[in-house]
Amino acid sequence: MAATGETQPAKHQEVGHKSLLQSDALYQYILETSVYPREPQSMKELREVTAKHPWNLMTTSADEGQFLNLLLKLINAKNTMEIGVYTGYSLLSTALALPDDGKILALDINRENYEIGLPIIEKAGVAHKIDFREGPALPLLDQMVDDVKFHGSFDFIFVDADKDNYLNYHKRLIDLVKIGGVIGYDNTLWNGSLVAPPDAPLRKYVRYYRDFVLELNKALAVDPRVEICQLPVGDGITLCRRVS
Ligand code: SAM
Ligand code: CA
Repeated sequence: MAATGETQPAKHQEVGHKSLLQSDALYQYILETSVYPREPQSMKELREVTAKHPWNLMTTSADEGQFLNLLLKLINAKNTMEIGVYTGYSLLSTALALPDDGKILALDINRENYEIGLPIIEKAGVAHKIDFREGPALPLLDQMVDDVKFHGSFDFIFVDADKDNYLNYHKRLIDLVKIGGVIGYDNTLWNGSLVAPPDAPLRKYVRYYRDFVLELNKALAVDPRVEICQLPVGDGITLCRRVS
């Protein structure tokens, strides 16, 4: 925690996907000026705990956490879903934004990592909003699609899990989000790799998932059921507002 003291704001982790801006210094400026000073104490604590975890590359960045929190308030979200929880940074930003009787269905194949963040979420007084289910998301989504009571029932759905399934998720989520509600697909700029030359030295997992992200972006761009906006926040988030 020493690195994030009052006088020395934390430097963001130097991985490309946290910084798609041309200038790294400009990104650091945003964090230090507009994000870290307003970050709730619980989110700061969770960010610092997560930074010690070996897979911390997966966490949502602080600026994106702030964006999600504000977006949820702007759309008055009450019933939400998150696919891909990890230690819960985006989950906590969501839980803090919802009214006291708000609900988040939170899905992840790994409960252990969720339990790293859970004590902090509990201390923040928002754990009662979260219904965490351990397991692959797709079969549960199929069950929900089969039950009409879930149709059009979500105000907001944040998708931040296995990128090779995003289009499979989209096929189901479009029925579950309400008309006028929003689905947010995360990492749709995929570390900038989408426009990398064919011989670029990409990490194996970046190269593997890149084609799926390209395919998703193409499909969303022509999907008449949603209005979209792809934002260069974090690693890119595409917001889809269901219109039919
Ligand atoms: N939103 C999280 C945050 O703010 O820290 C980050 C999520 S991390 C990028 C991706 C997560 O998706 C991992 O925790 C992983 O266990 C989960 N995941 C991978 N495949 C999944 C699946 N089929 N169903 C549900 N969760 C899955
Ligand atoms: Ca992400």
